[in-house]
Amino acid sequence: MKKQLTAALLAALCLLLPGCSGASSSASATASADEAQTQTIYAMDTVMDLKAYGGSASAALTAAADTITRLESVFSVTDENSEVYAINQNGGEESVSQPVADLLTLGLKIGKQTDGAFELSIYPVVRAWGFTTGSYQVPTNDELQSLLTKVDDAAIEFDGTKLTLPAGMELDFGAIAKGYAGDQAIEAMREAGASSAILNLGGNVQTLGLKPDGSNWNVAIKNPKDPESENYLGILSVGETAVITSGGYERYFTQDGVTYHHIIDPATGYPADSGLTSVTIVGEDGGVCDGLSTSLFVMGKDKALDYWRTYGGFQCVLVTEDGEVVVTEGLKDAFTLVDETDYTVTVAAEAGT
Ligand code: AMP
Ligand code: MG
Repeated sequence: MKKQLTAALLAALCLLLPGCSGASSSASATASADEAQTQTIYAMDTVMDLKAYGGSASAALTAAADTITRLESVFSVTDENSEVYAINQNGGEESVSQPVADLLTLGLKIGKQTDGAFELSIYPVVRAWGFTTGSYQVPTNDELQSLLTKVDDAAIEFDGTKLTLPAGMELDFGAIAKGYAGDQAIEAMREAGASSAILNLGGNVQTLGLKPDGSNWNVAIKNPKDPESENYLGILSVGETAVITSGGYERYFTQDGVTYHHIIDPATGYPADSGLTSVTIVGEDGGVCDGLSTSLFVMGKDKALDYWRTYGGFQCVLVTEDGEVVVTEGLKDAFTLVDETDYTVTVAAEAGT
């Protein structure tokens, strides 16, 4: 019975996952209320699957794709025409755009609340590892220590309009830009008349409304031990929300038998080694969830749960190296473990319960 249920769920969510869906769009101007249209785009270094239902689906997909592409051209660290590229070259800007202002405000707040697990100014370190360009290398410890002297979000001066960076500092919005772009894309789809849609921005799933039949979405969480397969870790049943995952398996390279991933612990300059293999955050605001998925991955299980109990406003699924899946109380009924061989679930309670 349980196996049948799992098979049905997997079939239902296959279309949500990259690789499962077909190529580009399948548009029809006279789509019925529950007919899906899909579009696959490549942006922000990520394959993104967009899906909308109903008569406005085609317009909604165009609006979402345009929104994401526009934000990519703002936040790219490598595109010489982007606003962030100019900020990094010039040490700031007299008047930043609204998206940059939004993410500066959010990033600085998350950095403070996470005691520096999150640093927008991590970019020189990320670049030294080659994660921006794909030319991977292991920097020397001396180089990392020297680059870390430039990583200090507390030294960023931002008054809501004018941004000033200390000499040598460079920003990287890569840990929050996709979640923010997802939020903006969902709003653009809503404005285009859609009431049911789902975006999969490479591990970031964001939904608009419910499925056309009024049921929840089934969102798969990848298995960190086997991320390319359909041997999922588990499934979350959710309404309109963001489900955003950070995992060391998303971007990494191996040298001399050691694997190095792209989520950096600002305390050391090395890939975070916190005992977690993935962190999924569920909440209303995609930018916040994206920032927290990265931060809680760096912090490790105990500090992550302390953060959840202190600040709240989201739920999460933490996966540890030794096969524990910690599900916060608000998700306990929404989460179904699929890989029962390798993992066991524990439920984290709110403080004081
Ligand atoms: P995510 O996949 O959302 O966890 O974001 C990872 C990306 O965020 C990396 O590719 C870097 O560009 C950037 N990043 C890595 N470590 C940090 C950190 N500690 N704080 C802020 N951004 C980071
Ligand atoms: Mg993130």
